[in-house]
Amino acid sequence: MKPVPFSHNIADTLQLASKALNTDGSKIIAGGQSIGPMLNLRLVRPTTLIGVTRLEELQKIHIIGDTLSIGAAVTHARIEDGIDGVDLPPMMRHVARSIAYRAVRNKGTLGGSLAHADPAADWVTTMTALDAQLVIRDARGKSRREPMASFMRGAYRTGLQQDECITAVEMPVAMGQALWGYDKICRKVGEFADAIGAIVIHPDLKYARVVVGATEDAPLLLPDMAREIARTATAPSLGDIDSTLATYLPGASRVKRQLLKTALSRAIAKVIPS
Ligand SMILES: Cc1cc2nc3c(=O)[nH]c(=O)nc-3n(C[C@H](O)[C@H](O)[C@H](O)COP(=O)(O)OP(=O)(O)OC[C@H]3O[C@@H](n4cnc5c(N)ncnc54)[C@H](O)[C@@H]3O)c2cc1C
Repeated sequence: MKPVPFSHNIADTLQLASKALNTDGSKIIAGGQSIGPMLNLRLVRPTTLIGVTRLEELQKIHIIGDTLSIGAAVTHARIEDGIDGVDLPPMMRHVARSIAYRAVRNKGTLGGSLAHADPAADWVTTMTALDAQLVIRDARGKSRREPMASFMRGAYRTGLQQDECITAVEMPVAMGQALWGYDKICRKVGEFADAIGAIVIHPDLKYARVVVGATEDAPLLLPDMAREIARTATAPSLGDIDSTLATYLPGASRVKRQLLKTALSRAIAKVIPS
């Protein structure tokens, strides 16, 4: 199928991009890796697409005080390569490498992936685990911040309003020193995940987060398990993981639960080897 007719504007300034978003039927296009297929399937029917990848503000990776800020239009490939002279958390570089294949990583952006909010995507789970906040700007130029942990409301649903654009993703610089484990189960290398397990622990910050992703919904935080792992420095048994998942995901099939249990136990084992 072909998309419905639309106009395509490349925004010169963030202000113009934000203003253009105020019009009903307008939508951002970043790398086009997710919206492209949706256009062809007519799952989205915008009147105008606003290209944002040339905007300088959305391309920057920098540190301000103790905050690492990554522009929304930074590609997976730039994160994978780590070529910006700023140390990114090793977890991010590891995750970037496992997204699709290089042609997709060259185009696909961090902000596009978070805004698209595919439950099986890697960044939604990773950014939840790393305590990221999204910087979001509206058509009037007002900025707000929303934690990734609450930004994704469900499959393909987020807290973004029609006139809002993600400009950057922020996290504490200290996340670069955190202990982390990430495991993605997929049928073939480079495919979307069937299950994701992620753990981030930073003893100095007293930060511990355990997340499972690709649940067919927003990433699932397991705060009790995270607290217990941080308190005891002991990995939960497979039985404990299974019963926790059964409690949080009562509708999940046995196969899904087995995949999630396996991914999470492997991720935890990277932080707490048996
Ligand atoms: C073959 C293939 C395999 C893939 N495999 C994986 C995988 O293994 N893991 C994975 O995580 N992903 C995977 N992806 C998805 C890929 O990572 C995309 O890059 C990503 O989901 C979308 O990013 P994009 O920049 O292309 O966004 P686009 O497709 O341009 O936009 C996606 C959506 O986000 C909105 N949007 C974009 N930027 C912003 C912004 N700054 N503010 C507000 N809204 C915005 C758009 O309006 C649109 O609704 C795959 C894609 C393909 C084509």
